[in-house]
Amino acid sequence: MRQPLESGHVVVARSAGVMRLPARFLLVLAANPCPCGRHSLLGLGCDCSPASVRRYQGRLSGPLLDRVDLRVQVEAVTRSELIEGASGAEPTARVADRVRQARERAAVRYEGTPWRTNSEVPGHELRTRWQVGPAGLREAERDMERGLLTARGLDRVLRVAWTIADLAGSERPGPPEMAEALQLRTGIARGVPAVMGGG
Ligand SMILES: [Zn+2]
Repeated sequence: MRQPLESGHVVVARSAGVMRLPARFLLVLAANPCPCGRHSLLGLGCDCSPASVRRYQGRLSGPLLDRVDLRVQVEAVTRSELIEGASGAEPTARVADRVRQARERAAVRYEGTPWRTNSEVPGHELRTRWQVGPAGLREAERDMERGLLTARGLDRVLRVAWTIADLAGSERPGPPEMAEALQLRTGIARGVPAVMGGG
């Protein structure tokens, strides 16, 4: 799965020859936080030992997780949330409109290149042609030094930061957008509100 995640195509080699097939897809993974499934930030009702929680979460391989851009920890739905339903939620049409505008902004920026969306832009182009600025990079560099972020992870954080900026209508990502992208990747809060809360 790692190769198509990275390149957007899959290569099948058989005795008759080698075939290269398109395989661009959106991967959504969901997992329980622990063997019993009740481990949460609120710390309610889970009897699993810290070691067993670590072992359980360690079953997701590092190389696979390194290719996951957004990680969101969600809490169990409360009874009142179940009763109220999605009454306070933003209508899908409005979200779709915002996404369309963000994609248009990206398409204008990448005019004259082979790319249309942030996810398609190669890492070296993001690090040279569309730079986020030294202030925005500082936090990411710290994470790399602490071993929280790989080089591949940095490229992915840059793409997410551009998408956050496009969604907000900003010219380019600055420290807040980078902090949010880093938080979505590492799960470590940076003191900025996340646009993509639980849900
Ligand atoms: Zn548990």
